[in-house]
Formats: sequence, C-alpha cells, structure tokens
Amino acid sequence: MAIPETPQEKIQHLSKKLQQSIQSRKQLEDHYLRDSQRYSEFMNELCLALSGVDTELDRSLHKLRGHLQQNASTAVLEPIMQRLSDTISQHTIRLQTQLKRTNESIRQALVSIKPQHNDSKNKLEQIANEFEQPAMTVSHYLPLVNQLLALSYQQPAVQTETDVNQYQAQLLDLLSEVEFSGSAADILQQVKMALQKPQTSDTLLAIILKVMRLVFSNINDERRSAQTFLQQLNASLESVHHALGRTINHSADFADQRFNLNQQLKNDVSEINVCVTEACELHDIKESVGLQLQKLNETLNQHLKLHEQERENFNSNIQAMEQKLQETEAQVTHYRQELAKQKFRSLQDSLTKLPNRSAFEERLNLEFQRWTENETELTIAIIDVDHFKNINDSFGHIAGDKTLQVISGTLSKTLKDPAFVCRYGGEEFAIIFCSDEQTAYQHIDNTRDKVASIPFKFKNEDIRITVSAGIAEFKYNEDTTFAVFERADEALYEAKNSGRNRVITAK
Ligand code: GH3
Ligand code: MG
Ligand code: MG
Repeated sequence: MAIPETPQEKIQHLSKKLQQSIQSRKQLEDHYLRDSQRYSEFMNELCLALSGVDTELDRSLHKLRGHLQQNASTAVLEPIMQRLSDTISQHTIRLQTQLKRTNESIRQALVSIKPQHNDSKNKLEQIANEFEQPAMTVSHYLPLVNQLLALSYQQPAVQTETDVNQYQAQLLDLLSEVEFSGSAADILQQVKMALQKPQTSDTLLAIILKVMRLVFSNINDERRSAQTFLQQLNASLESVHHALGRTINHSADFADQRFNLNQQLKNDVSEINVCVTEACELHDIKESVGLQLQKLNETLNQHLKLHEQERENFNSNIQAMEQKLQETEAQVTHYRQELAKQKFRSLQDSLTKLPNRSAFEERLNLEFQRWTENETELTIAIIDVDHFKNINDSFGHIAGDKTLQVISGTLSKTLKDPAFVCRYGGEEFAIIFCSDEQTAYQHIDNTRDKVASIPFKFKNEDIRITVSAGIAEFKYNEDTTFAVFERADEALYEAKNSGRNRVITAK
C-alpha cells in the first residue's frame, strides 16, 4: 500500500485505521459479552447442580446466582467467589471424614453378612473389592451401598428359614419321647403332624406355645395327683397315729385301774391277816374270813373283768390300725404302679411302641459298663429308611406313620431276641447287640432283606421300601458310646452313598 503523502491522504488513512479499530473493539466486546454470558449460564447451572449438598454452600450459591443474573461486576463477584471456594473446601473435608467413617462401618457390615447362595457370595466379594479401591467418589459409592443393603435384606430371610427347619426337626425329635393320655394325646398327634410340614417362624412359635401349654397342664395334673395322694397318705397315717394314741391312753387307764385293784387285793389280804391274828374263836375267824374272802373274790372278779376289757380294747385297736395300714399300703402300691407305668411310657415311643431314644441311651450306658469290665462284646447298628420323605410327600403323613409302624414291627420281630431295638428318632432305629460285628451284620442284613420284601400298597400302587444300615463294634480301649455311634453313623452314610438298601460295617 502507498504511503500517504498529502495531508488529505494522511487524514483518510487515519480515519480508516480508526474505523478498523472501532470495528475490532466492537468484535472484542461482542466476544466478551458472549463469553461472559456463557460463563454466567454455566455458573448458574453449576450452582443448580450443587444445591442441596450443604446448607452453607446453598446460601453462597444462591447469592452468586442473584449477582450473576444482574450481570454484576467482577469486583462484586470476586469476594463471593472467594467465600464460595472456602465453603467448598470445608465441605470437601467434611465429606472425606464422613466417607472414611462410612467406609469403616461398611467393612464391619461386610464381615457380618454371610450369604447362603453362591451368586450372593460372589456379589458380596465384588462389592468388597470395590470398597477396597482408593479415592472412592460419592457417585461410585452410593450404588454400592444400595447393592450391599439389598444383600443384607436377603440374609435374615435365608437364615430364619434354615433355623426354623432345624428347630422344627429338634422339636419333633423331642416329642417322640413324650406321651400323654386323653385329649392331650390328640393335640400332641396334631402337633406332630403339623411339624412334619414346612412352618414359618410365626407358626412354629404358635406350635411351641401349644406344646408348652400341654406340658404345663400335664405337670399340673401330676402335681395335683401327687398332692391328693400325699393328703390321703397323711390322713391314713394320722388315723393310725390316733388309734395308737388311743391304745396307749387305754393302756395307761387300765394300768391305773390294775394298780388300784392290786392295792385293793393287798388290803383285802392284810385285812384277812388282821382278822386271823385278832380272832380268838374259830367261829369268829370263819365268819370274818368268810366275809373277807367274799370281798377278795369280788376284787379278783373285777380284776378278771378289767383284764378281759383290756384285751378286747387292745384287739379292736390293733384291728383298726391294721385296717388303716392295709389301706395305706394299697394307696402306696397304686401310686408306685402309676409311677412305673409313667416311667415305662417315658421310655417308649408312642407311634411304634418300641423303646425310645432315652431308653436306648440308658441301655447303652449299662452295656457299655459291662463291656468296659470285659463281660460282653458290644456292637451298635443304626438303620435308616431309604427315601422316606418320598413316602410322606407322595402318599401323606398318615401313610408315612403306618409305614414306620410296619417297619418297626418287622425290626422288632427279627431283632428283639438277639438285640435291643429302639426308635432313635424320625425314620431312624438304633440297635444294641451284645455280640461282635459279624453276628450283628448277619442279623441286620437279614432284617434289611425282610423289610425289602414287605409288600406295601399305597393308593393301589405297589411300593417297595428299603432300609440302609451302619454297624460299629466297641473294640478300641479309648472307645466311648459317642465315638462308636459316630462310626456307625459314618458307615450308614457310606451305605446311603453307595446306593442304599445295604449294610456297611465301620472300618
Ligand atoms: P435318605 O434315604 O437319605 O435317608 O432320605 P430320607 O428321605 O429318608 O431322609 P430325610 O432325612 O430327608 O427325610 C426323613 C423324613 O422323615 C423327613 C420327616 O418329615 C420324616 N419323618 C420324621 N419323623 C416322622 C414321623 O414320625 N412320621 C412321618 N410320617 N414322617 C416322619
Ligand atoms: Mg434319617
Ligand atoms: Mg431316611
């Protein structure tokens, strides 16, 4: 471009430059306005996004937004921004401390949650790993907390279900050792049936209360009957005591009377003596002695009468006492028989009428004592019905109960002579042999065969039911009833695992 020479040209040139400068400034101003508007909008959105996190922060943000909307100058905005920055740093510090504390609580919660299913276990592991990561942000953190909460909500439900099943089985086991009579027996039967079906914790609680009421009312009946017996016994003993007292009183009366009569006799005799010494004539002696002898005779007669009365009184008192004693003896015998019946009932299983688990334990302890004294050989066997649950599930519990009765009958018939058979609980039987494991094996295997050939028929369906058994002999010095029972149980487990319907002797 040519250099302006003339003043005219110079003015033109300057005016053009001025025009260009004004235009550039205008452009710059427009840019600035656009940018500051954009920043202002952005700040506004940021303020909105941050609101609700902290009250102090909310207040500062609200103020800032007001100034931004009024396009306030930087001088106004500057101190507000500074305060905002301080509040944000304080808030961040608080948030970090909170996060740390929450992290600690969550670590503890992670340890206490014990998921039952594999997929829940895997999920828990994943969550635990995520929590281990450093510098976790809130957005990362919150969904994890939600997942963890969901897992912990599942937890009690699963646990309760297993607990309820366990308690149910334990209660059923305990009830197999209880027997009531009359209406209590019917209620007990209903309870047992209910316990064989799945229950919730609420219904199980109601059942437990029912059983407790039954037991308490039974205890009260027993207490009342024992009280009545003791009252009767006391009354009888009291009347024997009275009769004895009467006899003693009578004897004392008679002793007094006898003493008086003896005194009288002595007087009579000494009077005769005086008469004889003082009399001068035989005739006088005769007369006065005759009179004295008559008196003596009367006294002797009174003596005899008294003796007779005494004997009669004594006899009747003795008779009364004997009768009372006989009555008391009859009451005691009756009570003793009742107690013996009760003891028998407490050792007998009500469904199968076989001895129950308590009876088994009592007998096993006795035989174990003999075994330790080297008197007998000792072997135990456990028999368990195979797939018994299927019978209940397919044909109902009443059919299940009948099956147990039939199997018990067969066990009793084939094993009663060589062994002691009991219903250990549920569909399990325990047998004690005072012989070695080979002999026990033969008997048990023969019984297994017999059970397998029973022709069961349910709903017109022919059913074959089998049993498995485990056998263990007491043979080591350190053997205890518990250890040998465990060996027999392990052998039974092996019999089940190797196909059922078989007998296995523990190694
Ligand atoms: P396995 O061959 O492994 O022994 O299978 P199982 O089905 O026999 O064994 P499980 O222990 O699963 O089931 C036993 C069932 O016996 C469950 C329980 O309801 C039932 N039961 C226990 N006592 C009685 C009872 O007195 N009467 C009836 N009807 N059923 C009972
Ligand atoms: Mg079983
Ligand atoms: Mg079974």
